[in-house]
Order: sequence, then structure tokens, then C-alpha cells
Amino acid sequence: MEIIPEGIKKSTWNKALDYIAMSDEPLPYLLMDKDIIREKVCQIGRTIRNAKVFYAVKANPDIEVCRFVAEMGIGFEIASEGELRILTELGVAPERIITSNPIKTFRFMAEAVAYGVNYFAYDSKAEVDKMARYSPGANVYVRLVVPNEGSEWPLSKKFGVEIEEAAQLLIYAKDKGLNPVGITFHVGSQCNNPYNWQSAVDKARELWETAEAQGIRLRMLNIGGGYPIRYTKNVFEIEAIEKKIDKALRRCFPEDVEIFIEPGRSVVGDSGVFVGTVIGKAKRGDEDWLYIDVGVFNGLMESVGGIKYNYIVGSRGEAKTWTVCGPSCDSMDVIDKEAEFPEPEVGNRILIPSAGAYTISYASEFNGFSIPKAILI
Ligand SMILES: *Cc1c(COP(=O)(O)O)cnc(C)c1O
Repeated sequence: MEIIPEGIKKSTWNKALDYIAMSDEPLPYLLMDKDIIREKVCQIGRTIRNAKVFYAVKANPDIEVCRFVAEMGIGFEIASEGELRILTELGVAPERIITSNPIKTFRFMAEAVAYGVNYFAYDSKAEVDKMARYSPGANVYVRLVVPNEGSEWPLSKKFGVEIEEAAQLLIYAKDKGLNPVGITFHVGSQCNNPYNWQSAVDKARELWETAEAQGIRLRMLNIGGGYPIRYTKNVFEIEAIEKKIDKALRRCFPEDVEIFIEPGRSVVGDSGVFVGTVIGKAKRGDEDWLYIDVGVFNGLMESVGGIKYNYIVGSRGEAKTWTVCGPSCDSMDVIDKEAEFPEPEVGNRILIPSAGAYTISYASEFNGFSIPKAILI
């Protein structure tokens, strides 16, 4: 009988095994299953009226991944000149690019405007002044702060303003010659609480009305990213979350409102599988430590914030509880303190599914360990 390990789809598993058997690419690397990316791109936004999808490049900026996403025709959300350059190299038209980083560098602003990008987020007066200088008349949208409860990666402290201030900022932008077109928010990344979007939509509605009462007619609502993927626990299906969002949107907004969605993690996360090697084992007190060649610094940074991964080893040995750590000499380089899987041998391969988002984009070559290369399969 064929056994498919926990946390990976059968088709991805089979493709990964084929690739590993055939390839002499040095380990570690990150396999990205194109079929899963395609499935996600086709699914996201399908259940929401008037939705346009912009892939948040920071989740995985690998150029081949971006090329594959670009070929499917959706847009991109970027935050820096580096991300912009990937898209210009791919020939993505500026009309397909937005930037929702509320505080932009001068250089990025200049390069984005020169390329023709014309949608910018903001949440402060200083940013309005900056945008008015670099891009007079540009389409701008204000970032509203919304609850981030139930998100594993909250984003609400760094950005966003409350309704009153947001309304003031929309007026201020108009006074400065910009074109205030809408509102954005982000419920937090890996958000498994559908009510976050509902309360965010309600709050956006209040801002929409407040702005209208003051003579600002908006036409766009950007609901950000945040859709969750499965790591070790089940999460809501995208369709179920979108149904709830769509219901809230229909209740709160006129029919012709344009909806923008900026998914990152959900587009690429569960297509990715790290393929690495077990490089050491040790008993420390009564703990079993396992050392592998992908760690916090060269790919698994999100483990520090609480993301838990599945580990697949070929071994049929006795299951043990492992402290799993990366190859560097830093004591922060611990990925998991209670991972359960059978005991592998040093030199065995280890696979880590759901590793397509916020892994290689966060990685550094700290201590001389290379960043795993992304390979589309
Ligand atoms: C990171 C980010 C996203 C993507 O969020 P996910 O949780 O990965 O879907 C979307 N919009 C903005 C402004 C972001 O900063």
C-alpha cells in the first residue's frame, strides 16, 4: 500500500519524490509545485464580487515563481525597488502593480512612479506629502487599523489609523492634489478567524460613509491578505472565508465597488517543500536534538514566531519527540521543540511541506549557509 505522509498532497509528494530521485541539485532546495500554485490562483477571489487579485511578492519573490504567477494574469503587490525590478524584468505592465506599503522609501517611490505604478497606500500626513511630491494625482488609499485576533502573524501595530484620522487623511490627500480612491486593511497573516474580515469590512463601511459625508467618494476597497494555509492544523477553506467576506461586502457596499485582494501566503505557501538533510543527532539532558541543513536563518524564520511545520523522514523507526534545529552556530537557530517523527539516520533526507511562503524571502546567508534555491516542479 502506498503511504502518503502527513501534511503533503499525494500529487506533490509523487512529483517531489520523482524530482529528488532524478536530480543532482545540491541540497537543501525548495520544490514549488506549480499545480498547487495554479489551483490557488484560480480559487482566490472567485467567490468575491468584483474582485481583482494582486499577489504579495514578499511571500516568495523567486523570479520563476513570479513568472509563473504572472502568466496566469493576476496582479502584484510590491513594497520595494527590488520587488519592482523582478516585475519589470518579467515585463509585467504597471497597471497590474499596486503598492500597499504605507511608508515607502524615496528610491522606491521614484522608480515605481517612473515605471508607471499608480496605486499607493498610506497612513500618515508625511506620506501624503511624499506621494504628492513624487506622484502628483496618483491613486491613493488609506490603511485602516483592524482587529488581528486569531492571526498567527499580527500586523496591526506597525500600520493603520482609526476611522476619524483615516477620513482626515483622505481629505488631506485630496487637498494635496492626490486622488483618494479607497481604503485598505490587513487582518494579519495566517488568519484563521473569518470574523476578522467581517469586522474589518464593517469598520471600512463606517469610514466610507464618514468620507462620503465630507465630500470624498471612494470606489475601491482593498481587503489585504491573510488567508491561512495548512501547516500542522486544519484551517478554514478559502472558499468558506470568501463566502463570509462576500456576504459582508454585499451587506455594506454598493454593487460597483472594486475589491482588491492581496494574498501572499495562500498563493505559494502550501506548494513549497523544503528538501534537506539530517546532519547530526545528539542527546542533551533528556532531550533528543536533531540537526538539519535548513534552519531559522536560511529558510525557517517563521518558526521563531510560532509557525509549526510537519517533518517527513523516510525512516520507519520508533517515533520520538525532537528538538529540531538548523545548521548555524547560533542558539536561536531552533525550529521546533516538540516535533514528533520516527528516528532518521544522519545523512537521511528530510522534507518539510508548506514551506513556500515567507521562507526563502526571509532567509540570509548567516554563518555561510546558503539559501535554498527554489525549483518549480
Ligand atoms: C504581507 C502583505 C500581504 C500578504 O499577506 P498574506 O498574509 O501573506 O496573505 C498583503 N498586503 C500587505 C500590505 C502586506 O504587507
